[in-house]
Amino acid sequence: MKLSTFGIKFTQANGITQLMDDLGKANQSNSPDIIMLGGGNPALIPAAHTVFVDELQKLINSSRVDNMMGLYDGPEGDDNFRQAMADLLKDHYGWGLTAKNIALSNGSQSSFFTLFNLFAGEMPDGSINKILFPLAPEYVGYADQGLIDAMFASIKPDIHFIEDEQTKLFKYQIDFDVLKEKLASDANSIGAICVSRPTNPTGNVITDDELAQLDELAIQYQIPLIIDNAYGHPFPGAIYTDATLRWNDNTILCMSLSKLGLPGLRTGIVIANEEVIKAMGRVSGIMTLAPNSVGPTLLTRLIKDGELINLSEKIIKPYYQQKSELAITLFSEIFADLPVYLHKLEGAFFMWLWFKDMNIDSESLYNKLKEHDVYVIPGHNFFMGICDDWPHKNQCIRLNYAKDEATLRKGLETIKSVITQ
Ligand code: PLP
Repeated sequence: MKLSTFGIKFTQANGITQLMDDLGKANQSNSPDIIMLGGGNPALIPAAHTVFVDELQKLINSSRVDNMMGLYDGPEGDDNFRQAMADLLKDHYGWGLTAKNIALSNGSQSSFFTLFNLFAGEMPDGSINKILFPLAPEYVGYADQGLIDAMFASIKPDIHFIEDEQTKLFKYQIDFDVLKEKLASDANSIGAICVSRPTNPTGNVITDDELAQLDELAIQYQIPLIIDNAYGHPFPGAIYTDATLRWNDNTILCMSLSKLGLPGLRTGIVIANEEVIKAMGRVSGIMTLAPNSVGPTLLTRLIKDGELINLSEKIIKPYYQQKSELAITLFSEIFADLPVYLHKLEGAFFMWLWFKDMNIDSESLYNKLKEHDVYVIPGHNFFMGICDDWPHKNQCIRLNYAKDEATLRKGLETIKSVITQ
């Protein structure tokens, strides 16, 4: 097969696709011995799942199903859903927006592909623009989305240790001194700033103050601030700390239906100024004609009637928050006598373990754990754009803690036994 440059770049095996193959094979083996703490699947929360299945049943029995299955939407997606989202955000946050500020996509993964390549890559004058992640580690799904190589730059975090008698906790914070230097020196080659909040892989939620500073810097340098809100407010609402969402004309806020428990519906939501939304629509028209209409049609009534917010606040957030509390308890118990640190769990459903000053390399640890049927994600994959050999990159792993207690306990105990061997 003779491939184009695009073909070569987008078909080559990379670390994370090999890892996903591993996880896929482990999942498919259905072996009862496998402890699956890798992957980003949301939990199947029975009370939420029932609401969605009942709504689907109602939809199938109504005439709405005809349009859903039989008509293409416009390239920006289902108008009723866009209007319902605009009303929800206006009512909830007082933002001045309309349906024209909302575009839909086939999952936020595809929103990011479009956004990153709209703002970075080869520019009309031949220069190269990058997407800047102000806080590494960041979501690994961004890593290979650039149409050109080396499209991302990242800033190493400040590591802040949190005094706690029972648990060795830390939190990554944005190093604004370095970020400001980077923006000042590369002002003409940064196309956008992007941050996930809550962050996958760490469960970090950057503070309101950090977000406000990012917003100011983005406005100062006239580049958009992309906020990946896949786990955040108002839905699914997996945030366990005080955090306020903000949006303005310079912000591109990305949301998703996936972490509500609906990843199979492949629906992403982009909230931005009208120019960006029109651009998203044009690309969407070329790539897919129109985005999937199943997710938007299914959720429109639930959004209009306030049920989705209620579900997020009463069922989904408490479910994950309880899991996060269990994760901290198990961590404190199992790693009490070891120099293993946990990133403060502020949102999403991941534990980020740091084997501080230990002679451990995350890739070898991953392979050793695999031999014991425990699957995690080695941390070095999440440091895209940090090109030096900073040891910290290889000292961390990510675990999905949205599991039952016995599974999580067994996984953490196996990690302890492997690292102490
Ligand atoms: N952003 C973050 C931070 C994620 O963790 C994920 C999926 O795990 C995505 C985006 C992609 O989500 P979607 O299913 O909407 O494509």
